[in-house]
Amino acid sequence: MCHWCNQHGDRDHKWYERVENYLFNKVFPTPEDQERVKQEMVKTFADTEWRYSDAEFIRNHDFLQARASKGFSSQIVIKEEMLRILKIAEEATKREDSIMVAGHCPCRLVYEGTRDYVCIGFGMPVTMSMEIGYGRLPGEGLTEYGGAEWKNLRKELRKGAKVPLKLEEAEELIDEWEKRGLWHIVMSRGRLPLIEAICNCERRYCTYWMNRFRSGVKEYVLKGHYIARVNPLKCTSCGHCFDRCQFGALHYSKTSDNVDIDMYMCFGCGLCYSACPNEAIELISRAKIPAIKNLW
Ligand code: SF4
Ligand code: SF4
Repeated sequence: MCHWCNQHGDRDHKWYERVENYLFNKVFPTPEDQERVKQEMVKTFADTEWRYSDAEFIRNHDFLQARASKGFSSQIVIKEEMLRILKIAEEATKREDSIMVAGHCPCRLVYEGTRDYVCIGFGMPVTMSMEIGYGRLPGEGLTEYGGAEWKNLRKELRKGAKVPLKLEEAEELIDEWEKRGLWHIVMSRGRLPLIEAICNCERRYCTYWMNRFRSGVKEYVLKGHYIARVNPLKCTSCGHCFDRCQFGALHYSKTSDNVDIDMYMCFGCGLCYSACPNEAIELISRAKIPAIKNLW
């Protein structure tokens, strides 16, 4: 079990498998807590929300470490886990009368100037952040959602086909993102153990990846609970998995005509596994391998 599971999971569930961790009113039970979170959100929007990908922050180890210690964290999950996560998230949104929305990736916007809708947010933080000014960008003021009263906004949002996002639509998106070769992460945005979003990303854009690998703050993206292993007897060296690994764990050796996966580098995203037409890659629990079971 990873440290988030030890702190926020239970005997039978990982931290992202407990519905309680998706319920704002469970994680922040008192009106004082809830008001504090809302005020922090307002402040974050005003201060840094859309600047966190700026170079000055990416290079600022202390700033990033402080954010990580407040609960800015994520973990790699495989597609099958992500589908279960969405079901739990949907149950939580029904219980709290909040919503699930597809949002654009702020990292891509910063690095490429494009809006690619590869993130899904859910629960009360999405609801509240829309009320505060969701989608606000530097110099752009507020979007059509920004600054609205939630009770009016909710009525408007529900008229749209994908806002709120339906569970079946979210599941289709996960499929599409898996085919595109985007890894999946489940995240808390500074309010651990509250789980409030998933992202589907790749190395060249992902700020969380950069915070771990360039700035050395590994809590930003923990390794997943699985690792991949190749069965050489089934592998035909067909090449479908060669470009899937963004963590440098999977290599093909032309000399030996073999695929090799380095278990120390594997993050367990499962992208090689889903690409293999010959079922030559299996995903095994990290917990079962003594050498890596505590490497997150
Ligand atoms: S996709 Fe499967 S069969 Fe093809 S090279 Fe990779 S492991 Fe081998
Ligand atoms: S080896 Fe496979 S499961 Fe491991 S990180 Fe690379 S693509 Fe993901």
